[in-house]
Amino acid sequence: MFLFYTALVLLLVALVLFWVSGRTRRAAGLPGGRIIYTDTRAWGKVEKPLYDPTLGLTGKPDYLVEQNGQIIPVEIKSGRAPQAPYDSHIYQLAAYCLLVERTLGRRPPYGILHYTDRDFAIDYTRELEDALLHLLAEIRRDERRAEVPRSHENAARCAKCGFRQTCDQRL
Ligand code: SF4
Repeated sequence: MFLFYTALVLLLVALVLFWVSGRTRRAAGLPGGRIIYTDTRAWGKVEKPLYDPTLGLTGKPDYLVEQNGQIIPVEIKSGRAPQAPYDSHIYQLAAYCLLVERTLGRRPPYGILHYTDRDFAIDYTRELEDALLHLLAEIRRDERRAEVPRSHENAARCAKCGFRQTCDQRL
């Protein structure tokens, strides 16, 4: 069961990053994120993935913070913060917010993207939830298609891609 969940987590993350990679930034009107200061001592490591059977969605945020009756997911990124969070990072965090609400029964007002030099709070708005659900529906639809065209002309992206060995559209 653990391996099953792990595979699904990796699949979720890979699919979200893959689908979002070629999109125009802010195409879905995503929130840009607020810079915040956080106390990492309050962060609790997440032991088990969160799973929503209705969407068939699973994922494991790096940490959950409980404060004032709210549960806030935290996603750790290893690099320095970009000028504004990437759409792929925002969608990944939104998926964790959705999973927290569906599995723990409390809707996070926001999630935290933690980079090495800065933290962003991303508001989990109804608009962001709708954009995420739309993206997941697109992913499901494209999963059934025999061929999905490459969404970019960026050779550097292909060079770092985990699907490179099997992808017939790599640059
Ligand atoms: S190798 Fe294929 S899947 Fe990976 S980024 Fe390039 S086109 Fe996309």
